[in-house]
Amino acid sequence: MIKDPATAIPSLWDAAKAPADEADKLVYASNLLGSDPKITNFGGGNTSVKVCDVDPLTGAEVDVLWVKGSGGDLGTAKRSGFASLFLDKVLATEGRYVAGRKAKGDLPEDDIVPLYRHCIFNDNPAAPSIDTPLHAFVPAKAVSHMHSDAVISIAACEDAERLMHEIYQGEMGYLPWMRPGLELGLMLRDLIEANPGINSALMGQHGFICWADSWEECYELTLRLINKAAEYIDRNTKAHPFGEVVREKQVSGSADKLVELLPLLRGKVAFNGQRLIGKVDQSNPVLEYLSRAKCHDLAKLGTSCPDHFLRTKIRPLILENLSEEGIDQALAEFREGYAAYYARCRHADSPAMRNPNPSVVLLPGIGMISFGKNPTEARVTGEFYRNAIEVMRGAEAVSKYIALPEQEAFNIEYWLLEEAKLKRMPPEKEMSRKIVLLIGAGPGIGQEIAKRLLDQGACLVVADLNQTLVDDAVAHLRGDYGREAVEGVVMDITNRDTVRQGVDKAVLAFGGLDVLVNIAAVFIPPSPDGKNTDDQWRKSLEINVLGSNIVAEEAQRIMAKQGTPASIVLCSSANAVVSKKGSLAYDTSKAALNHLVRELAVEFAPTTRVNAVAPATVVAGSQMFPRDRVIASLTKYKIAFAESDTDEVLVQKLSDFYAQRTLLKQAVSPGKVADAAYLLASDRLSQTTGQVLAVDAGLVEAFLR
Ligand SMILES: [Zn+2]
Repeated sequence: MIKDPATAIPSLWDAAKAPADEADKLVYASNLLGSDPKITNFGGGNTSVKVCDVDPLTGAEVDVLWVKGSGGDLGTAKRSGFASLFLDKVLATEGRYVAGRKAKGDLPEDDIVPLYRHCIFNDNPAAPSIDTPLHAFVPAKAVSHMHSDAVISIAACEDAERLMHEIYQGEMGYLPWMRPGLELGLMLRDLIEANPGINSALMGQHGFICWADSWEECYELTLRLINKAAEYIDRNTKAHPFGEVVREKQVSGSADKLVELLPLLRGKVAFNGQRLIGKVDQSNPVLEYLSRAKCHDLAKLGTSCPDHFLRTKIRPLILENLSEEGIDQALAEFREGYAAYYARCRHADSPAMRNPNPSVVLLPGIGMISFGKNPTEARVTGEFYRNAIEVMRGAEAVSKYIALPEQEAFNIEYWLLEEAKLKRMPPEKEMSRKIVLLIGAGPGIGQEIAKRLLDQGACLVVADLNQTLVDDAVAHLRGDYGREAVEGVVMDITNRDTVRQGVDKAVLAFGGLDVLVNIAAVFIPPSPDGKNTDDQWRKSLEINVLGSNIVAEEAQRIMAKQGTPASIVLCSSANAVVSKKGSLAYDTSKAALNHLVRELAVEFAPTTRVNAVAPATVVAGSQMFPRDRVIASLTKYKIAFAESDTDEVLVQKLSDFYAQRTLLKQAVSPGKVADAAYLLASDRLSQTTGQVLAVDAGLVEAFLR
């Protein structure tokens, strides 16, 4: 059921909150419309208002068109996300267009878009939407173009026009499919001229557009038209629009199967070394669709709304045989099909073929995986396929779903203007598309490493011993880097089950694992007699050595399955090579860790590099230096201090002492240790494995030999 009439979209217009200024009112209405996925999909649809304003140059009153900017999302758009244009100049582009159409014998849309820059009113830097003419040529003040699932369901039926007349009884006109641009704007103008009584138009396989004399009216009209389509579908739904149930809706252990499949698929859909982030959807509508007889045939038809397949590709891949050979075969067929589609549809000047792998993979009985270059894009791609499922359900409920013609789909996917937009995007950051598990992300070195990774675009999963530590780290990092880049998991590195569960959760969060950084370690000061007890020994070796091995092995379990270059960074210490009194168990554990690095580098080659950073003692910001340990060290080195000294003063004294022992006379800072760990994690040191990188400001006795 697409919607129950009782749950029709209610009006949220609040006259007390709606601003008086017309452009601000447009923003208010757009935010209301864009916040409900039943009204329009993410980033889809656009809105406009025509107002009278004063030309800052001439002082004359002119008509100004405010229209959503290119690429923005209605739900969150601010006034700065809307372009303002001289209406008469936009309308004047018709002359150039018609002359070009005559000369070329084709639609010269690409020649028109650059002209919009000449139409800008009041030096507004926002780039106008490709749908600008659709709004400009409607002779009404407020215009709303939405991608609502319910209305697209009607627009994607084989008898869309007949259904439209049945539902809307003359208030809506019909525009057959035409890609966005000036031609569509002129078609709409002609439709309104020929049918002066209409308040809206159904856009074949795309969505609808409606208009009114004010935004209050236009908002209510938008909702009423969507509700009418939803009610019609609801009243007329055939039994089982997707056919009979032919397979189990959700197989048992589907989460475990996803953990198996995600890294494998992620490794295989990478293209030219470019990895993708994967998001999982196991919601009821997806599982329900996949359990039904018609899902294969419908999925093959492809999606309809142009916004959808720009992300979802023309069609998804359905995987039934989940053996590795089965997956390889299905992917090979998909790629061949995509290359053939490209070859059939390409024009002489089309951009080169992009990644021929699927961006949506459907797993009957398990769920859907959607891929994108970052978590947001992966999520939105999945949401778009959910929209596509809703559209197909609605269309099949009352009629027969038809997809966009293949050539039209290609023309949008490989539109030169779209390619130009891609080329204008800033270069991707160094760690973008990489998934990193960082164990120990608390204040100090861990947090510094987290910042470097996130600054460079990584997807980060932070792990720590308990939920409070994890929640603190996640909340802190999300505050600076946004919700979608950071996840958290709880694990005790000495307990393989918790590590395995944590790594699996990381895989489910982003689709795989590329880098592991483990800085969790313990320093247990000896007893007053200067010795470590057996229990202290056990704990030191268990956390610093065994724990490092467990996390490395569990990470490699995923990295090996993925098969793409990976990196593990462990945390050693200058103490691993400096023999001295008073930290026997700790120093020995770190010496063992140095050799573990070399052994694991051999074990995990050629996929995964294994290295370590070896800082000299970092006092400032370290959680390993509570006040009593600082005092113990000051006493040991016979450095004068007073009991009344503050923590900061004591730390400074010890830090100065350590600095004086180095060649560079510098205290080792968490930031510099983080820089070294970051280099080993990134591809900068992609030919370095089995190494321990010292960060000690030059500690002669720690020179490796
Ligand atoms: Zn549209």
